[in-house]
Amino acid sequence: MKGKILGIISGKGGVGKTTTVANLGVALVNEFGKKILVLDGNIITANLNLHLDLVYPPITLQDALNNDLSLDKITYVHETGLHIIPSSLTFKEKISTNHLWRKVKSLANQYEIILIDSAPGLGEEVLDVMRAVDKLLIITTPDLPSITTSMKSIELAKKMKKPVLGIILNRARNRSYGFSENEIAATMKVPIIAKIPEDEKIPESIATKIPVVLYEPRSPASIVFKELAARLAGRRYRSLSILDRIKLLFSRKRSGRARKGKGSRSKSTSAKKR
Ligand code: ADP
Ligand code: MG
Repeated sequence: MKGKILGIISGKGGVGKTTTVANLGVALVNEFGKKILVLDGNIITANLNLHLDLVYPPITLQDALNNDLSLDKITYVHETGLHIIPSSLTFKEKISTNHLWRKVKSLANQYEIILIDSAPGLGEEVLDVMRAVDKLLIITTPDLPSITTSMKSIELAKKMKKPVLGIILNRARNRSYGFSENEIAATMKVPIIAKIPEDEKIPESIATKIPVVLYEPRSPASIVFKELAARLAGRRYRSLSILDRIKLLFSRKRSGRARKGKGSRSKSTSAKKR
């Protein structure tokens, strides 16, 4: 497990990669005491830092890649103890990601797991993320465009000899969307290892820059993130009470129907440079 580098990729954009990286990272640290780094490999349209309340990092992955700095110099620490390597929110000319894999691998023995967020699709940036990882998690929403484009990501992973640990089905609803989960898994030839329900606490939490596992720890999506984090940590998520399980069951049955939410919280999750 030590030094495992996991890439979170998808064919289509907007399917939940960044949300998943932020929440898995925080849950692995907060619930399971793991030493974890999250890195924003979505270089051109970065936004992982916003999920973690790190709004204007003065130095970013772009600086490290362009000036051959060690990644240690651009590592920030979230209040949970999660380490973050952000990318720049502002547009920068020409950044070479050729050496990303070398830089990331040099950090591997400092962490139990490194999670890399990625751009969508199959572009050069994504290829360079794939080169840097040991294994991949594929995220898809349960719709045809997302499933078919994610199948290309799986093909590419195969070509690059990067094992795919599983599919994360996000925004899962308990109603027919044309395919059963078994059909999705069989078509993609990869098992579904987590089903994150549609959960209005996710956009609410992003607006506050507090990952949902902290913002609303017992919301249905938070429970699934913690279950998946437990799986990655090789542990069982035992703090799930009967009440949580019943809530999760009902949220799946409710099929993503809109629910009224509470107002935002004031908890700060500022990140600071190491
Ligand atoms: P990606 O990184 O793949 O582009 P994001 O993680 O940025 O995707 O998610 C895109 C948007 O989808 C976010 O703004 C978030 O509010 C919304 N979203 C993601 N997952 C869920 C979910 N399970 N329930 C509700 N909204 C979600
Ligand atoms: Mg993203």
